[in-house]
Amino acid sequence: MKLSTKIRLFSSLFMLVLVLLVNTAIYYLFYNMSLNAEKAELTDQTNEITEALNESPNIAKSDLLKAYLPTDGMVRIIGKDGEFLIPTLTKDQEFTELPFTFSKKQTAGVIELSNQADFLTISKPIIWENGEVATLQVYKQLVAHSESMETLFYVLAVASVIVLIPTIIAGTFLSRFILKPIKSLTGTMKENITDAKWKKINLENRSRDELYEMEETFNVMIEYLKDNFERQETFVSDASHELKTPISIVKSYAQLLKRRGQDNPELLNESVQAVDSEADRMQKLVEQMLLLAKNQENETYSKLDIIQLTRETVDQFKGAYDRELTFEAEAEKIMVNGNHDQLQQVFYILIDNALKYSDEAVNVYVLRRQSEVQVKVQDYGQGIPQEEAEKIFDRFYRMDKSRSRDLGGTGLGLAIAKAIMEKHKGQLTVSSESGNGSIFSITLSTID
Ligand code: ADP
Repeated sequence: MKLSTKIRLFSSLFMLVLVLLVNTAIYYLFYNMSLNAEKAELTDQTNEITEALNESPNIAKSDLLKAYLPTDGMVRIIGKDGEFLIPTLTKDQEFTELPFTFSKKQTAGVIELSNQADFLTISKPIIWENGEVATLQVYKQLVAHSESMETLFYVLAVASVIVLIPTIIAGTFLSRFILKPIKSLTGTMKENITDAKWKKINLENRSRDELYEMEETFNVMIEYLKDNFERQETFVSDASHELKTPISIVKSYAQLLKRRGQDNPELLNESVQAVDSEADRMQKLVEQMLLLAKNQENETYSKLDIIQLTRETVDQFKGAYDRELTFEAEAEKIMVNGNHDQLQQVFYILIDNALKYSDEAVNVYVLRRQSEVQVKVQDYGQGIPQEEAEKIFDRFYRMDKSRSRDLGGTGLGLAIAKAIMEKHKGQLTVSSESGNGSIFSITLSTID
């Protein structure tokens, strides 16, 4: 069932039940009030008859009672054996069919009839001529009361309909009002799916309600998706572009070998070496791309000593390279919350770059700054010009492509390091002057 139908149905049903309850209450209240008034009137009449009977014992009872016969009514006097002590006095012979009772107590009752107005009856004990107790029973058909009740019924029914019509109209407007933004949201979503566009919802002149918030969130989500999609697209095209070069080198050497390789040992040797180094490059590229993708996953974090971790990494490089590499720390131990392997990867990238892009010494410092720790990797190499400082963190960005390629670079190292630092809620920055070397710094929050 559509949401609009549900809103309309619910509001109309709710109003219908409410109106029915109120109207039924009004109807029964009025019914009781009117019946009580009739009862009081007939009781007064019955008392008058008894008084008249007592005060005028000499007048024939039938004649006396005729004077008191109510309009639309009947009077009976019933003996203790259920016999009529005088002939029934009535305006309509049909009334004589009505039931009667002998009672020694004053009672009142309503006789309900299916095809005509109800009767109200009052029974009152009297002392009859022979000294025995008899019952005077006075009947009155509730014609005016029935008519009023019938009129009230129709008035209330018409009032119910009059109330329900605006309720249905209000329900329709309400459902339209609520559903308009939802419909526009669905429409925009469909357009985005079919046209593959990053369309947003126009929020001009809209009141700031919950639906506004929903649409605003949708717009933020679209922006986020667009951004992510574009970045993925760039990544895929950059990655395929980067893989194209080694593949075409391998292919051209294979063709060369096919044509003239068999009887040319020099060419054979050169080709095998080229293929081997291009295969290494592709392997490194693929590994780094996987690393970048893996960084999106959730990793486990633990408490670790950043000084020990940095020292370990520096020692590994010292063993592998014949270069001057110094390490200094301001404290014995500084604890941070992080992923051991990922943080080591960051230091690995920074030290590797410092060694790659300089020929002099490389210094690594660990500095304590209140609740933060800074690790700085300083080199005295070519440096990075101001305008390149932000770009070097982009995927596949290399200042000097051919130099980086010769040094085995992929252009992914700093992008990986930056992503890891973002995950650790830390920072990775560079300060450098062209020709005067560079300092890459990472900052992390410490823990006790
Ligand atoms: P690559 O694999 O090319 O080294 P990176 O993402 O690690 O990729 O670095 C991107 C670029 O930033 C490098 O190609 C290089 O031009 C520049 N770069 C990085 N570190 C240094 C450094 N210590 N000194 C000078 N240039 C650097």
